[in-house]
Amino acid sequence: MAKLYFKYGAMGSSKTAQALITRFNYIEMGMRVWLIKPSSDTRDGADIIKSRIGLSAPADVIRPKDDIQKIFSKAQAKNTDVIIADEAQFFTPEQIDQLHEIAVWEDIPVLCFGLRTDFMLHLFPGSRRLLELAESITEIKTICQCGSKATCNVRFSKDGKVETEGEQVVLGGNETYKAMCYKCMQTLIRKQNQK
Ligand SMILES: [Zn+2]
Repeated sequence: MAKLYFKYGAMGSSKTAQALITRFNYIEMGMRVWLIKPSSDTRDGADIIKSRIGLSAPADVIRPKDDIQKIFSKAQAKNTDVIIADEAQFFTPEQIDQLHEIAVWEDIPVLCFGLRTDFMLHLFPGSRRLLELAESITEIKTICQCGSKATCNVRFSKDGKVETEGEQVVLGGNETYKAMCYKCMQTLIRKQNQK
């Protein structure tokens, strides 16, 4: 059977670029790729996946209520050798189950790229399900400004403060994110609390 893959990394670890490079490599081998992304990610317009280094490709947008297995069996099944998903943390747990079913029963590899945890270091629901179900889990590494591995997605408010509470996903907000190691993040928070 084919596998469900979870390739996770912090912000800025080039997950999207790697998803698009992987897509390119499959296409170069003559294989058909179904590129998808959850609708919660609207940064780059509705149906484009775009990386910071300039790669981009059209993608099908999956809404939270969509049944991916149904969409797949209707439209995609005959035209797909591999499924690649970006921002996979935003899929619902049910949708991760659906992707897993496709991998197992349709024998189609499903490669999910995404974040493991949010700015409070809690798993996204989709990421939790991926960690539970994926046959292959790999980390895409990136480094903190201090040189250690970055594992935290630190969220900064508009006035430059590290946010330690709030909604898991803020759409259209003004906050920015930076990948840091736990120690550097905590150092910032402690300094902030001393003021
Ligand atoms: Zn650090």
